[in-house]
This record gives sequence, C-alpha cells and structure tokens, in this order.
Amino acid sequence: MADAPVTGRFAPTPSGRLHLGNLFCALLAYLSARKAGGRFLLRIEDIDLPRCPARLARQAVEDLRWLGLDWDGEPLYQSRRTEIYERHLAMLSQKGLVYPCFCTRAQLHASAAPNLGDTQYVYNGACARLSREEAGRLALTRRPALRMRVPDEEVRFTDGLYGPQAENLARDCGDFILRRSDGLFSYQLAVVVDDALSGVTQVVRGRDILSATPRQIYLLRTLGYSVPEYVHIPLLMDAQGRRLAKRDHDLSLTALSRRFTSREVVGMLAFSAGLLPEPRPAAPSELIAAFDWAKVPTQDARLPQALFDGL
Ligand code: GLU
Repeated sequence: MADAPVTGRFAPTPSGRLHLGNLFCALLAYLSARKAGGRFLLRIEDIDLPRCPARLARQAVEDLRWLGLDWDGEPLYQSRRTEIYERHLAMLSQKGLVYPCFCTRAQLHASAAPNLGDTQYVYNGACARLSREEAGRLALTRRPALRMRVPDEEVRFTDGLYGPQAENLARDCGDFILRRSDGLFSYQLAVVVDDALSGVTQVVRGRDILSATPRQIYLLRTLGYSVPEYVHIPLLMDAQGRRLAKRDHDLSLTALSRRFTSREVVGMLAFSAGLLPEPRPAAPSELIAAFDWAKVPTQDARLPQALFDGL
C-alpha cells in the first residue's frame, strides 16, 4: 500500500486469553507488513496491569507463536513505559491543552449525548470552564482525570479499507481523557506515543476502533509525530453472520487449540478474510505471497461452520 518501508504492529490487550478476533487481526497485520517486505512489531497493551496480569501477557505471546507468527525484536510492554507517557503528557500540558476533570461517572452519564450509546459520550466541557480556584478546591477532595482539549476542527483521513473518514473533534468527540482519575494513562495517549516511538507506519486493527482514529491523529500531530496509514478490518462473525459472543461459543485459544491445529486455525481465518477460496490448513508465512488488501471485504467476515460444529 505505501511505498516507504512499512512497519506494522499488532497490539493486543491481554485482559483475557486471546480469541479469534485478536488472531484475525494479528494475521492480517502480519501479512500486510510482511507482504510489503516490512517490519512487524508486537506490543502488549497491558497498561491496566490489574486487568492484564503478566500471566495473560505471557500467554498472548505464546499464543501468537503457536499460530506461527513472528515479529521483529522483543515485544514492547506498555506497563513498563509509564515515564514515557508522563513525558508526553507534560509536553501536551506545556501547550496548555490539558485540564483536570472532576466529573463523576454519574455526571458524565447525565450529560451524555444519547446517540452514542453507553460507553461513548461527547464530553460537555464542564471542567474546561472551571476557574483555577474552583479546580484547586475540588482537587482537595478528589483526584481528577486529565483531559485533552480538542479544537472545533475536522480531522480527515483515508482508511485503507473503509475509505475517506472525517470527524469534527469538538462536535463528535469532545475533550477526551489522557489520564484517568486512578492515574492510569489512557489507551489513546499510550497507543499514539508507542506507535510513534516505534516508527510504526501502518496500523491494522478492528473497525471497532475506527472511531478513535481522529483523536489519535490529532494527538500525533499535536505531538509533532507523523501519522501512520490506517487499515481497519471487518469484525468476525459466526457462520450465520452473528456477532461472536462468549456466551455462545468458547472461541478462546484454550478451547480452539484442543480441537484444531494452528494451521487449521490460520486457514479458517484466512478463508474468512477472503484470502483463501476454502478453509485449508496453512502457515502464516505461506500466505504472504498472495496477500492483497483488495481481497479483504469490508463487510463483516464470517467464520466457517466447522469451527462451531461439535461445540
Ligand atoms: N489494544 C487494543 C485492543 O486490543 C488495540 C489497539 C490498537 O490496535 O490500536 O483492542
């Protein structure tokens, strides 16, 4: 896709054992980078250590090896990079773009725009209007989250699969969290800093994160980093086209590796991605030569029925 040397990456959050959706993403990110003769990096997004214990991080690395993937260098662990995130937060702070937010969950919910669902809301900017004195008084009783001020400005980019995208940050997103009130750095800040410092030029990830991309592009530009190419990929569905749900089938690697070889799993994922005409066993490296984004559909990808038989 790009002419410059490609550096791709896969960046799972090991809050549970990896599931097929993670493997699907890992495989496509790997194939895309390797097809371009590029580097492929692994980053473990275990910034929320209580939710992502070392045992699960180790397991994720083992699972990716089991699948037959390889990557360049050692995996990067976000949990070890706090100082780097601190430094970047300070850079944004110096530009006057960071302010403390004392809003409680209940306040955020009450002011949420109803169109965005439960987990997403456009922040109404209440704390951006606090005076220094008011903020100081509130800080005596509660530790604030830190938010990034966004401009009333449209961010545009062209996604490798989903085409042109545009979002007005102030209207569609609002000032967003850089550090949570419990002190944890946000995914948005960590992902942007890590991609930039690792020299990542191509981000391949699920289309569920497409909507976070304008925020990340804005952060990258503000920090003076270049913006990678983004390719968001379809979500995985079952053979009937329904969203995968844990309650229906256990598709984590614990169950899968008991029933299938890694070559079988890779073959089924490649078939779902439109890269094989039928789900025949294959190693990731065998799929590099024929990999082409033009074969990957934008509609949600269906897994073969064989995966669900006998569950
Ligand atoms: N860690 C995120 C996840 O597992 C992915 C982040 C990214 O690829 O930018 O959903």
